[in-house]
Amino acid sequence: MGHFFTHLFAEVSPTYANLIHADFQSIIDHHGVLDEKLKAVFTAYVALAPAEKTEVQQAYNNNSSIEQICNNVIKPAKFSELPVSIQDSLKALYGSKGALYSMLTAKDDYDAIKNRCGSLKGHFEKFREQNKLSVCPFCGMENLLTDYDDAKNEYDHYLSKGDYPFCSIDFNNLTPICDYCNKSGNKGQKDIPFEPRSNPQIQAELYYPYSSAFPDHNIQLTINATDTDLSEIDTWTLSIECIPAANTRRKTRWLEIYNIESRYKAKIAGDSYQWKDRIVSKHSLRCKKNNVPFADFKDDILDDFATPLKWNNGVLMKCFDEFIMNDPNCEANLDGIIII
Ligand SMILES: [Zn+2]
Repeated sequence: MGHFFTHLFAEVSPTYANLIHADFQSIIDHHGVLDEKLKAVFTAYVALAPAEKTEVQQAYNNNSSIEQICNNVIKPAKFSELPVSIQDSLKALYGSKGALYSMLTAKDDYDAIKNRCGSLKGHFEKFREQNKLSVCPFCGMENLLTDYDDAKNEYDHYLSKGDYPFCSIDFNNLTPICDYCNKSGNKGQKDIPFEPRSNPQIQAELYYPYSSAFPDHNIQLTINATDTDLSEIDTWTLSIECIPAANTRRKTRWLEIYNIESRYKAKIAGDSYQWKDRIVSKHSLRCKKNNVPFADFKDDILDDFATPLKWNNGVLMKCFDEFIMNDPNCEANLDGIIII
C-alpha cells in the first residue's frame, strides 16, 4: 500500500498498473474486490484539484506517523476531513468494513497475504518473543496468550479504523490487547486523541504503545483506606500516579481510555480478601511456626511482585501488599490473627 500511494502522489501522470508493486500483484489477482476498491481510490484521486491532492497527501503522511500523533506533534486526519469526492472510496478500502480489513479476516484471502507477507499469528509470536511479560500491555491485569497457544489475542486499532484513513493495516497502529481492554465501555472504538474528554476539540497526548522513549517510566498505585477490608468499594480510594510526573497528561488519557481506575478498584474490592489470606497464611508459616523475623518476612512479601507485569494482576497485588505491609500496625495485626 505504501508503494501504491507513494507513486500515486509522486508521479505527474500516474497509471493504475504502475502503482501495484510486483509483490502485491498476487494478492490483487486473488482479491478482486481489493483491485476494484484500489481503482476507485485511484480514479477519485486523479480527478481532484491540486490543492485537494495536497490535502490527501498530507493526511496520508500524518496518519502514517502514529508515534508523532501520540506525541501530539501531528494531527491525524479523519475521513470526514478529506475532500468529499474521495471519502467513500477510501472508506471502502481502509474503513471498518473496508476491503483491506475484510481481506485480513476472510480465510481464503488471508491465506493469499500470509503466503506473501507472513501471518498475524506469526507477528503475535514475534511480539511475545520480544515481550516476555505475561500481561496485557494496556491494563497490566489480564494474561495474554503465549506464543505456544494455537490462538492469539485480538489486535486493537489504536487509532480507530472507523475514523482515520490509511492506518487500518499499519502495524505501528496495531497491538495485541486483552478482551476486557478492547470491549465497548473500556477502549472499544473510542476516538482516543479526542474523546472521551471535557473538550474533545483539543488533541491529547497519548502513550505510543511501541515507544522506547520512556525506559524509566513507572506507574505508582496507592490504596488509601483505614481498614484492610476493601470489599466496600466506596470507603477507600486508589491513587494512580506516574513517574516522572512530566508524563501525567499521558497517564490521565490512559486512565480515561481504558477505564483503568474503575477496573482496578473493582478487582481489588473483589479479590483482595484472597490476597490478604495469602499474607496471613505466609506469616503464620514463616513467623509463627518458623520464627522468621518480621522484617525479613516483610521484605519477602514486598519482593513477591517486584516485577509485577510478570503476574496476572501483579500490579494490583503489589500495591495491596504495600498497603498491608507498610501499615505501622501490620506486625501487631498479623500477630493477633488466630489461624484455625
Ligand atoms: Zn488489558
